[in-house]
Amino acid sequence: AQYEASASRYEQMQYRRCGRSGIQLPLLSLGLWHNFGDKSDLRESRNILRTAFDNGITHFDLANNYGPPYGAAERNFGSIFKEDFKNYRDELIISTKAGWDMWPGPYGNFGSRKYLIASLDQSLQRMGLDYVDIFYHHRPDPDTPLEETMGALDQIVRQGKALYVGISQYSAEDTQKAAAILKEMKTPFLIHQPRYSMLDRWVEGGLLDTLAAEGLGSIVFSPLEQGLLTDKYLKGIPEDSRAAKEGTYLNKEQISDELINKVQQLNEIAKNREQSLAQMAIVWLLKDERVTSVLVGVSKVSQLENNINGLEKLDFTEAELKAIESILA
Ligand code: NDP
Repeated sequence: AQYEASASRYEQMQYRRCGRSGIQLPLLSLGLWHNFGDKSDLRESRNILRTAFDNGITHFDLANNYGPPYGAAERNFGSIFKEDFKNYRDELIISTKAGWDMWPGPYGNFGSRKYLIASLDQSLQRMGLDYVDIFYHHRPDPDTPLEETMGALDQIVRQGKALYVGISQYSAEDTQKAAAILKEMKTPFLIHQPRYSMLDRWVEGGLLDTLAAEGLGSIVFSPLEQGLLTDKYLKGIPEDSRAAKEGTYLNKEQISDELINKVQQLNEIAKNREQSLAQMAIVWLLKDERVTSVLVGVSKVSQLENNINGLEKLDFTEAELKAIESILA
């Protein structure tokens, strides 16, 4: 049957303004890194997208290389978009990126104008879109002048292929430099996408300050450390988990006893808050208003529902925060 979005989709979700811009993003956004590739169950993937939108998640995040294989997530998203979301295009913020290895040879990687412009054209084709809302440079490239990479982002906007631009994984210092170049060109620089979780807090060491000063928003990726910050690995490695799957970036070796011991303790605090650990790990990031949105991945609709329900309890007591700090220390 033709999908019709829930009429109550905007009733529960909260939105935060993305820096000093006209865009507001939902507290929770959906990433399509894994779980939308060719080995995924695409009926579930489709239901994940529907459930997200039905609950006010207006932002879907992609990249040229999401899959596996590379390009597959955009292609699969494109078919689902065409069937389910075409009529809702103006209610959606869709992003993609280029910056990692995508095709062979010297023009399919890093940060040249040549690569970025060709890659976005390919992405638009795979997704069946005329434009994306946000186009990102996916990671800093130490060998290409920043002026060239930022110039490509600017050109992409002038071409009408993206409405806003962003950068990902850039240090605070490089972000500052990029912002200065983009400001000069009057490019609509909206957002930074850094990694941020209870287990990886590098953004607290200056990046969030820089973003606030520059009027930029942030959307933080791998908030659950790819699933480590949930209760799923407490009793071994489930067969259907990311750590057990091939072609992912989460390995069994990363799941040490020391880590599981920490996760166990965090899980106890979450239980006392009547939340799942996943829920607590997400809302813990949102206590900082400079975090515009938390970008989760999910392999099942039930996980997404759990994460959405967690937004009902955003506040922490001082005691909880202290207890969490002492576990993370
Ligand atoms: P997460 O840290 O959210 O990990 C997602 C995994 O956590 C899921 O696949 C699932 O694991 C598990 N999970 C999620 N919710 C629950 C729950 N409620 N209960 C139990 N398990 C749960 O994020 P990702 O690493 O997937 O990253 C999110 C998004 O961020 C990506 O899709 C992508 O859009 C973006 N990203 C950007 C990068 C960049 O360089 N800019 C790099 C990496 C990601 P399982 O599969 O085992 O069920």
